[in-house]
Amino acid sequence: MARSSKGSGIYTPPSLAVSNISRDPLSPEARSALMKRVRIRDTNPEQIVRRILHGLRLRFTVTGPSNRNLPSRPDIVLPRWRTVMLVHGCFWHRHHGCRLTTTPSNRAEFWQAKFAANVARDAAQHQKLRALGWRVITVWECETRDPVSLARKLDRMFSPHPRTKLCRKSKCT
Ligand SMILES: [Zn+2]
Repeated sequence: MARSSKGSGIYTPPSLAVSNISRDPLSPEARSALMKRVRIRDTNPEQIVRRILHGLRLRFTVTGPSNRNLPSRPDIVLPRWRTVMLVHGCFWHRHHGCRLTTTPSNRAEFWQAKFAANVARDAAQHQKLRALGWRVITVWECETRDPVSLARKLDRMFSPHPRTKLCRKSKCT
């Protein structure tokens, strides 16, 4: 007698077939195509991050309710991952130990005060977001200069079984 046409006999309930937040991993070809597009077309750090997220099939919003309602109205929100991504310029947001984090010699006091205010504002924003249960990922401008590494890092952070443990302190990277 021929095999039953009802398939392999393994039944997967529709509700369990696809996890809510699962996504297809990128093939090596798709990933390298993504890298090419990122390199050629974008110079703005935030555009680079957005394009990487697109390529990794991570849905984000830029004008959604979360963007409008969260503290300091973040530009990139991934509601399904309850994650806010902040793209920071190294100079203005004082990326610690970064060569882009220079300090003008002119009017040193003015700059120090300005930088201190920026850093304090960032820390307060992170704290508020975390208190609301959001994961905060800071992407630094200098990281966007190497989109391949950045894409790998973000891919790991959003993989179903992340290998990268996220720092929950205010000085995370
Ligand atoms: Zn930097």
